[in-house]
Amino acid sequence: MFDVAAIRDQFPILKREVNGTPLVYLDNGASAQKPQVVLDRIMQAYGQDYANVHRGLHTLSTLSTEAYEGVRGKVARFLNAPSEEEIVLNSGTTEAMNMVAYSWAAPRLQPGDEIVLSVLEHHANIVPWHLLRERQGVVLKWVDCAPDGSLDPQAVIDAIGPKTKLVAVTHLSNVTGTVVDVAAISRGAREKGVPVLVDGSQGAVHMAVDVQALGCDFYAVTGHKLYGPSGSGAIWIAKERLAEMRPFMGGGDMIDTVTRDAVTYAPTPMMLEAGTPGIVSTIGFGTALDWMMDIGMDKIAAHEAGLRDYAAERLGGLNWLQLQGTAPGKAAIFSFTMAGAHAHDISTVLDRKGIAVRAGTHCAMPLMEHLGVGATCRASFGVYNTVEEVDRLVEGLELCQDLFG
Ligand code: PLP
Repeated sequence: MFDVAAIRDQFPILKREVNGTPLVYLDNGASAQKPQVVLDRIMQAYGQDYANVHRGLHTLSTLSTEAYEGVRGKVARFLNAPSEEEIVLNSGTTEAMNMVAYSWAAPRLQPGDEIVLSVLEHHANIVPWHLLRERQGVVLKWVDCAPDGSLDPQAVIDAIGPKTKLVAVTHLSNVTGTVVDVAAISRGAREKGVPVLVDGSQGAVHMAVDVQALGCDFYAVTGHKLYGPSGSGAIWIAKERLAEMRPFMGGGDMIDTVTRDAVTYAPTPMMLEAGTPGIVSTIGFGTALDWMMDIGMDKIAAHEAGLRDYAAERLGGLNWLQLQGTAPGKAAIFSFTMAGAHAHDISTVLDRKGIAVRAGTHCAMPLMEHLGVGATCRASFGVYNTVEEVDRLVEGLELCQDLFG
């Protein structure tokens, strides 16, 4: 059974007030709050078991290494990856996308080679490709979404031409909440022999992910949106692609031998994890994944579907609110604008009422341009949100309409 009150009870921050009213946290798309088990694990890791990993033979280093390395298996289970050896631990999706750009794409791509992107992408899955465009003449090929925010998988497949070397798409838009049919895109791309990189930063938060069923080649997740610490994350890389990766950053831990004249590298995934990693953030990330898996991703998705339906009905009933993104099956992420009020002003008024939303361009400027909006407010729901909080949001928006409408 899913008991939202019991879930909320596990988040100390949800008990606090903001500006004299109980906090309504609707900025989960930017970063989620952390349950007590994650906070406790961080305290234990630093307070009892801390040492560097992979380096020492002493007890604390062994404890730390075992806890850190144990996270690989948790990520593999969370994503249903075939092997934990295909999991690279990192600081989050921005690092993951840059790693794929430099470690996999850069050595293989020639000037004129194409990367197919959707207009739904976050800057983390755009700017690394622009850097390759600037440095080595790679061409970015864009696929637009429909006005409701949905993305036609066939349009992505049709954009793949003879020079396309990679398709890079999000699983779930952080702005519109659109769920992208990654399985269909991967099937079509595979037939054309083109690998698919998936930004799962939002997707893995809101639905069960099975990378084998999706059929993609890379799937990146980020710890801080998965109720874990910031500065943690992972990317699953299919075995065939992993064999094609070149070292990304050089330093300790990613080598086998170093002499004055030469270097040999550790096998993957270690080859892709240079230097002292985010040891404790990664350990906390593992605890957060266990916590989510204990609740059950299907139960989390069902709870959030209820919130989505209720919020869609209530927000849809405000005829002075323009919702951006109404694609069928979307997640509980709502971006909106209001005539006469800037997104920043709406956010400020809501904050006075203890309601946290995000305002701005959401690191998705090409999408904002495509939608024809300068900035939006975004209310993004998570596992601990309630229908009463949807009502609080609507009350706050009605106040904005009174003030600015
Ligand atoms: N991709 C999407 C869809 C996101 O929403 C975000 C975070 O806002 C990122 C990538 C960046 O992830 P990270 O914060 O781990 O670098």
